Amino acid sequence: MAQDQIKSVQGTEDLFPDQWAHWRTLYATARRLFERYGYGEIRTPVFEDTRLFVKGTGETTDIVRKQMYSIPAGEGESITLCPEGTPSVVRAYLQANLHKQEPFQKFYYIGPMFRRERPQRGRLRQFHQLGVEAVGSGSPLLDAETIVLAVEVFRQVGLTDFGVVLNSIGCPECRPRYRDEVCRLLSDKRDELCEDCKDRLQRNVLRVLDCKEEGCRRLVAELPAVVEYLCDACAEHYEAVKAALGRAGVEFTEDPGLVRGLDYYVRTVYEIKHGGLGARDAICGGGRYDGLMELLGGPPLPCLGFAIGAEATILAMESELGSPADSAVGPAVYVVCFDEAARADAFELVQALRCAEVRADMDFEGRSAKSQMRMANKRGVRFCFLLGPDELQRREVTIKDMADGRQWSVPRDGAVQEVGRLLGAEEAEGAP
Ligand SMILES: [Zn+2]
Ligand SMILES: [Zn+2]
Repeated sequence: MAQDQIKSVQGTEDLFPDQWAHWRTLYATARRLFERYGYGEIRTPVFEDTRLFVKGTGETTDIVRKQMYSIPAGEGESITLCPEGTPSVVRAYLQANLHKQEPFQKFYYIGPMFRRERPQRGRLRQFHQLGVEAVGSGSPLLDAETIVLAVEVFRQVGLTDFGVVLNSIGCPECRPRYRDEVCRLLSDKRDELCEDCKDRLQRNVLRVLDCKEEGCRRLVAELPAVVEYLCDACAEHYEAVKAALGRAGVEFTEDPGLVRGLDYYVRTVYEIKHGGLGARDAICGGGRYDGLMELLGGPPLPCLGFAIGAEATILAMESELGSPADSAVGPAVYVVCFDEAARADAFELVQALRCAEVRADMDFEGRSAKSQMRMANKRGVRFCFLLGPDELQRREVTIKDMADGRQWSVPRDGAVQEVGRLLGAEEAEGAP
């Protein structure tokens, strides 16, 4: 490779045509199910005013403190490549005044997000999320609906080795009591906490609960569970979510240590974890964020949602279903030219095939006929159209069936129709 060749930025990846199989399955399945559950697609910009995340995601989060790609935009303004989707959806909802028209809305989005994290397997700096957000209802049934929906996506892409982990982290009424208690208990053992967590003790003590450091985990295991501190309303909500999941036949485990890394969550938080991913095992994370709307200058409307991590899910699919098959879609018909004079005619034929909805291609590199046939074979072509001097002279095409080697000639004008008929018959029989 030449020395001055420019390479991709660390933490980003290229995806070639043959690598899309699992991605296609995931995206198509998610889209189909999101819409079946009544969520409509929303697209918001890839970058937003930096203040949206400072306010929405939260100043004390790792995301805002050290992972954002922010760019000065003149006049003291700053824009940021979206590190997550939720604040953008709420911002768009408010900006369109939907709360004054139809307050209850269900959205889904699919798109790239950006975080300056240490790149590792399944964790990129440009990553992709498939998320839903339900705005305008505090019903615990909706908490259950989003969990059921995420589970259904994973089931339908073929995963089995995953589980739902659930917790309630209370509300602004009851959480401070728990937070004070945790703070008191941990302050006594400050020296045993990792450096990050010493910092969290002041900033956001509940983040200590999901620290991965051994020493911190030991201390966390001794803490009382947050559910013991829930107010009546939160406890009732949590019970209703669990009951609804039971009715939907979705199993879950409760984990008092699950707090999620974002500031805006209240009550329900959940993750879906996959058994084939090691320490970073979450393929989906979500929860309720009833305070976010108000935080962003809107009315106090409850919201909740989840985001599925596409890269992590693809890894999970690879671990359970194996490497994806070559997903490059090759032509069904390849037009082979036997001399230069045939190329212009070949171009016309390829075009006629495409107009007849047949995937068709030809050689653009001036290869020999033999090499063109080899290429057709390699790309899994079903029929070749052979255009040699004889065919040109007689205005015919020789059709070669690549499956059995049979070949026959037809008038040029009827060739497209003939192959269309043959391919159509195969499709009807369910052949590939
Ligand atoms: Zn509460
Ligand atoms: Zn720690």
